[in-house]
Amino acid sequence: AVTLEQAVENIRWDEGGLVPAIIQDADTRQVLMMAYMNQESLRLTLESGDTWFWSRSRQELWHKGGTSGNTQAVVSIDYDCDGDTLLIQVKPKGPACHTGKITCFHNPVVMQRQDGSEPVQESSSSTAGVADRFAVLGELEAIIAQREAERPEGAYTTYLFDKGVDKILKKVGEETAETIIAAKNKDNAELRLEVSDLIYHLLVLLQERKLPLDDIMDELARRHERPRRD
Ligand code: AMP
Ligand code: ZN
Ligand code: ZN
Repeated sequence: AVTLEQAVENIRWDEGGLVPAIIQDADTRQVLMMAYMNQESLRLTLESGDTWFWSRSRQELWHKGGTSGNTQAVVSIDYDCDGDTLLIQVKPKGPACHTGKITCFHNPVVMQRQDGSEPVQESSSSTAGVADRFAVLGELEAIIAQREAERPEGAYTTYLFDKGVDKILKKVGEETAETIIAAKNKDNAELRLEVSDLIYHLLVLLQERKLPLDDIMDELARRHERPRRD
């Protein structure tokens, strides 16, 4: 880690004295937005713990969330190999985008490969870097977080968050009981559905409690790595 002075020295500020900053959710790793910083906004960010940018359209320092309330508490700041980009990990208080969406990156462009090959992944914006077969869990976590923030009408997840934690806990209990019954009945078609319901409701519960799925994965990995005594 380097001091502000060293960082200012190492960052390649453009002609206008700006450097692009990529803002990433520290828990979900979702890329939230990109904005520009100048030296003053970097200093304000380091000193306040919230993100500050330079608004090129308004030509002024900009405290992200200053009017919307959707501030971003900074977890870490890195600059890249050639010092022309910042990566800032944050814990956001609300949606990053002024449209109310969690991330500014919500405009997918369709692939048109000329060699006829299939796209590798449908959309990467919410799950960049997760390409294993459990990626769907991370995608589901991101969708649930989005539902909680945006509360789209008619969505079942919206209904659960509106009802609150007791409703979510009740569903976790029900789906657990149904999982047990399906297993007892040796009915794997049913078990598949009930375990899926249970996992979904557990993810809703984690979101309600603000416990990232990553923390669960870390815990499982730690147990897995721990050498056995017997
Ligand atoms: P906020 O900083 O969230 O209080 O929003 C204040 C103003 O900043 C908004 O009305 C937008 O003009 C602008 N703004 C907020 N978030 C973004 C963003 N992610 N990208 C670009 N402009 C933004
Ligand atoms: Zn670079
Ligand atoms: Zn936006």
